[in-house]
Formats: sequence, structure tokens, C-alpha cells
Amino acid sequence: MRYAAPAPQINAMIDPFGRTVSYLRVSVTDRCDLRCVYCMAEDMTFLPKREVLSLEELERLCGAFIGLGVRKIRLTGGEPLVRRNVMSLIEGLGTRIGPEGLEELTLTTNGTQLAKHADGLVAAGVRRINVSLDTLDADAFRAATRWGKLDQVVEGIMAAKAAGLAIKINAVAMRGVNEHEMDRLLEWCGRHGFDLCLIETMPMGEIEEDRTDRFLSLDVVRARLRLNWTLNPTGYQTGGPARYFDVAETGTRVGFITPMSHNFCESCNRVRLTCTGTLYMCLGQDDAADLRAPLRAGADDAQLKAAIQEAITRKPRGHDFVIERARPAAVARHMSVTGG
Ligand code: SAM
Ligand code: SF4
Repeated sequence: MRYAAPAPQINAMIDPFGRTVSYLRVSVTDRCDLRCVYCMAEDMTFLPKREVLSLEELERLCGAFIGLGVRKIRLTGGEPLVRRNVMSLIEGLGTRIGPEGLEELTLTTNGTQLAKHADGLVAAGVRRINVSLDTLDADAFRAATRWGKLDQVVEGIMAAKAAGLAIKINAVAMRGVNEHEMDRLLEWCGRHGFDLCLIETMPMGEIEEDRTDRFLSLDVVRARLRLNWTLNPTGYQTGGPARYFDVAETGTRVGFITPMSHNFCESCNRVRLTCTGTLYMCLGQDDAADLRAPLRAGADDAQLKAAIQEAITRKPRGHDFVIERARPAAVARHMSVTGG
């Protein structure tokens, strides 16, 4: 007996490798108030305003993705909280949290504006955030961000904690910069109840220095941490590339994102939308779809969804980051374009 093939699911995004896309990262601005050395050149040229989608346009595109099965949205940047009126977008998306819509709305931030926005984020329905903090040394922080103030970020983090947000600290591991601070970072995070996620540098966008000089393998970091901490493998998964361990001494978790040492693409459930409405199907590949053109040409929701579905048919199997081949950068755009 023969069975008819199931009708195509038009309200889900399934790529050619059978992966269901349910997670959208949205870079709401390419601008930032810091210039982290691994992320941006000191003298960056930012996008002209006309190329950047309005907050209303961004919300409309997010709505189309939610209609196609996106259950989690992470706002990022550049620095999402420096975009003027960004809270109106966050509040708008917050209304989409619910059984038929988003399971989670979250953001990745450098923390400089958190003291101002922590309560508003909670009111909008945000429950947890990622904050990037590579070092607890004020001088090293200023050097790593070119002019950032550690106190301002720590104050923001503490305001977020007081507001009731769960916090994960993201730290890029860099040889000669913070490699001897890993125990201190883990201890500090543990004391405050924060998870810690360590990241290897990725070859994205031209910066002044050679990234191979700073590259620090997380296999080495993990082995060193194990001298002082009990790291128990855990099944905890975020659907992303991090491998997590429970830290017995703190009751918190430490994760390792190792795009250079291990391939994490098999379970990839995400796509990335930039503030110009460009949809990247993979962080490490250049292929993209322009959603701004149909949006500004007056496309209705069905047409927007069709444009998104077409893009998903082009989601590649994986990236080709290899640090030895990282200069020139493996992909030309900076991390601040797609937001990591
Ligand atoms: N400004 C926000 C922040 O710093 O959290 C959000 C955007 S930032 C591009 C997102 C994350 O990407 C940060 O944790 C940052 O450390 C990381 N990142 C930036 N450039 C990177 C690179 N070349 N390799 C690895 N991580 C990078
Ligand atoms: Fe800005 Fe985040 Fe890039 Fe640092 S990592 S320059 S805070 S966008």
C-alpha cells in the first residue's frame, strides 16, 4: 500500500537537512558604545539611517517569523540597548509571548545600559539575558573594549539581578588578555548565581590585529579549570553550540562555545536577521536573503513568509571556520552585523 507524502507544512521552517528553524536572532543596530578589539575596528563606519529598518519594520518581520514557527527571539547588535526607543520594540515583542507565539524573548547586551533598562525588560516579559563581560580587571576591561568602564557594566548586571533577571555571562577567552582570570570569573559568577559561557574568538570582520595571536583553545581552558573545580557533564542544552557542565562547588553552570575546535552545526535551529533586513542562514557563511526589499515594496504577510521560506531552502549544512585560515577573516562582516 502506498502512502501519500504529507502536505508541506507552510507554517514551519524546515531546512534541506531536516532541521526545524525555531530561533531568530535579530541585530537591532550595528552601532555600539564600545569597541571590543576582537569585534570591531576602532574607526568603524556605521550604516546610514535609511538602510536600517525602523523598529516597526523590525517588529513586522519578527511577526512573520513567529507566524512561521519561531519560538525564541534574541535581540542583539551592535549593542541593542543603545538603539533609540528599543524598549518599544521589546514591549511589542513581549506581547507576542504566549502559547501561540514566543516561548522566550531575550537579549545579549554589553551591560552598559542595563541599570536604566532592567526593570523595563522584566515588565516586557524578558526573563533572562546574556551579558558580555570578558574580564573583572578594570584596566584590562578598558583595553579590551577600548574605552569601557567596568563599574558601569557591573552596576548594570547587579541591577538586572535585583530586577529578577536570570543572567548568563559571556566571555571571549583570549590568550594573554584574560586567560589567567578564568578561575576568578567562574568564582565571581558562582557567587552571584550567574552561569558563565566561554567563547572562542571567531574570524569575523577585519580588525586591526591578527586573531591567531589571541586565539585560546577552550580545551586548554577547561583542562585548567578542572584543576580547581568539579565540572560535571550535564544534559543542559539551549539548542545552541555551547556544551555545558555543572560546577559542583557553585551550583551554577559553565558552558564552552568552541566553533573553531568542534562542529556544532548538526543541531542548528537558528537564523539571523540584521538591522537592514538581511537574513543570514548561517553565522559563518555569506549567503543571505534581502527581506527589506519586499518589505518596503509593500509585501503582505504571505509574501514575506514566502520570501523567508525560500531563504530557508538555502540554509547550508554548516560553517567553515578554521582559525589558521582566519586572516583575512573567514567572513568579511563583523560580528556586530549579525550579533553572534
Ligand atoms: N553588544 C552586545 C554584547 O557585546 O553582548 C551584543 C552583540 S556582540 C556582537 C555578541 C557577542 O559576540 C558578545 O558576547 C561578543 O563577545 C561576541 N563576539 C564579538 N565578536 C566576536 C568574535 N570575533 N569572536 C567571538 N565572539 C565574538
Ligand atoms: Fe559592542 Fe558587543 Fe561588539 Fe563589544 S562585542 S564592540 S559590546 S557589539
